[in-house]
Amino acid sequence: MSVLDNTIIKLNGITKRYGYGDTTSYALKDFDLEVKRGEFIMIMGPSGCGKTTLLNIIGLLDRSTEGEYLLNGEDVSDISARRQARLRAKKIGFVFQDFNLIQNLTVIENVALPLVYVNRPRTVRLKAASNALKRFHLNEREYYRPDQLSGGQKQRVAIARAIVSDPEIILADEPTGNLDSRSSSIVMEELRAIHEEGNTIIMVTHNPSLTVYATRVINMLDGQIDTDVKTVADHNLPQPIEVKAKKRRARKISRTISSEINPEEEK
Ligand code: ADP
Ligand code: MG
Repeated sequence: MSVLDNTIIKLNGITKRYGYGDTTSYALKDFDLEVKRGEFIMIMGPSGCGKTTLLNIIGLLDRSTEGEYLLNGEDVSDISARRQARLRAKKIGFVFQDFNLIQNLTVIENVALPLVYVNRPRTVRLKAASNALKRFHLNEREYYRPDQLSGGQKQRVAIARAIVSDPEIILADEPTGNLDSRSSSIVMEELRAIHEEGNTIIMVTHNPSLTVYATRVINMLDGQIDTDVKTVADHNLPQPIEVKAKKRRARKISRTISSEINPEEEK
């Protein structure tokens, strides 16, 4: 895929229907969305408007009833559950409101868990988990159990787990919903740092004051987009580190070539 084509997610006419006949209801209705690499999107809207359904479909945890989902240009609307799971493990990190840590695993084992699904050996998994925890200054808690941590610490462990496999997309469903304002700020600063490295983040929140972190705010109503506002232009979004490196290499090569063709131009 080209460096210039920076669309990472494209939803065309996604509908999620529950029930049949008289009991039919729609969690999403003919939903279109195009997400560029490096966007930090906040999704807001009343309870029941389809926010979690949207995140679960994007995260390949659920499927739409109708419509097309392109992930990095590949149609993933109709792939097998096995392939869904494999793509999810490789490309997507999840953060949930209630942390979803496994109580009878230690902190480091929880963080290492996503790497089991991409078949990394145990020592590699634990090393990567330890590095992820270090980044959030939680390495002293490696051998604690989740219930020995505060809410804020639990959520930072969950974020470490979400990024350990180096996914391109982070999906967060009300990640600060159970946190006090101080812990919320710490979690948001961590998400901001992850975003600045060029990752794409889609986060659901009820807290309007958190939208300062977003590059785009989408308000949903009854399974559809009500308002959609970008606060950062696409060309100003942070770029993934490897894209920056590729561009640097390309510039260097073109300089080398031009200096070989016109040696006097290169000073
Ligand atoms: P939100 O996250 O915005 O609160 P959800 O995506 O959880 O909303 O739900 C959207 C709508 O879909 C709601 O009306 C909800 O009741 C309905 N819904 C969600 N999951 C199911 C299900 N498994 N069966 C039937 N209806 C569901
Ligand atoms: Mg929800």
